[in-house]
Amino acid sequence: MKAANLFLSILLIISTPSYAQNPVVYYSGVENSTPVEYLWSDYDSWYYKKSGAYKGWKYIIIHHSATDAGSVKAFHKFHTQQGYGGIAYHFVIGNGNGMKDGEVQETFRWKQQISGTHVSVNAWDHNIFGIGICLVGNFESSPPTKSQMTALRKLISRLKRTYSIKTKNIIGHKYVKYDDASGRKEQTACPGKKLDLGKLK
Ligand SMILES: [Zn+2]
Repeated sequence: MKAANLFLSILLIISTPSYAQNPVVYYSGVENSTPVEYLWSDYDSWYYKKSGAYKGWKYIIIHHSATDAGSVKAFHKFHTQQGYGGIAYHFVIGNGNGMKDGEVQETFRWKQQISGTHVSVNAWDHNIFGIGICLVGNFESSPPTKSQMTALRKLISRLKRTYSIKTKNIIGHKYVKYDDASGRKEQTACPGKKLDLGKLK
């Protein structure tokens, strides 16, 4: 759950005076197409636009909360305080500590079909077209519960089928590559080394 820091970076970047003159976002929303250059000033409007209205979901990004307990309500409060405009994710899967074990809850972002704020601004495409699923727990120190993994597999399978999401686009947060020409990846341990992503695809 490094999203807090990442979002602060977004705020810093978009609030710097130079951004308006600086077309620095390279975005390749359509597979195999030539990257298109967008202005930072476009970013704000794209970010909060209803995703379904302009393009379908393309990625599923898996996160852990890096906390022992949590719920949609708790993360919503925390992320609101962080300046995210509410909970960053589309789904939260409980671990019995704050929500029931294996319980899946949709957040307002899913209900309204709007973009998440769960990866950094450098992974722009992944925020706009990525469904963010957060499992409560710190999977650097202990694995998710069986009920969480079962719920996650079911949810992924449903989303994958409904939105024709490619297997290669089902990604743990730390494996998300920046949507620019740098070839760099997100700087985070999320969703933790003890979540076996291989079992999900
Ligand atoms: Zn994450």
